[in-house]
Amino acid sequence: MPTIGVLALQGDVREHARMLQEAGATAVAVRRPAELDAVDGLVIPGGESTTMWKLAETFDLLDPLRMRIKEGLPAYGSCAGMIMLADRIEDGVAGQQTIGGIDMVVRRNAFGRQVDSFESDLTFAGQRVHAVFIRAPWVESVGADVDVLGRAEPGDRIVAVRQGPLLATSFHPELTGDVSVHRYFVDMVREL
Ligand code: GLN
Repeated sequence: MPTIGVLALQGDVREHARMLQEAGATAVAVRRPAELDAVDGLVIPGGESTTMWKLAETFDLLDPLRMRIKEGLPAYGSCAGMIMLADRIEDGVAGQQTIGGIDMVVRRNAFGRQVDSFESDLTFAGQRVHAVFIRAPWVESVGADVDVLGRAEPGDRIVAVRQGPLLATSFHPELTGDVSVHRYFVDMVREL
């Protein structure tokens, strides 16, 4: 059974852990570099990407996170977690940094200008899933090595992507009863 960490700086840590367990993984909280070394994969929850960036710096986790991801650690970022995995962001605050890893441009609070939060059914990697969006980003553009796994209305925007061992969604599957996205990630970790 793979051990998957949930970055526990802020956000829906408990909900992600529950979904990971349901999907067949052992879930542990990650707050320190030593805990990061001990996991086979990592979930970066939603929350607020500016706060998460600052907390990651305070906890001396930003560089270890960058290093582990560069070495190929499988990671799944949801909402603010998607922002953290983006190589480039739009509408960030001055100086806002990410962990990076996925060759994409993510626009913060993009749906938020139209609808602060909404739910919709969409196709994720060929499966119908129920998705909850909360002041969600969308993916503005992707590089050649990035697979688009899902799009959503309004605007048929890109909301789910994968590049090798890295997965990201604009939405929060941990707030639904639908374990498909977590199962997809746990399978990724098993295969990698
Ligand atoms: N708007 C938040 C940000 O910029 C993301 C919202 C969320 O994670 N639900 O980080």
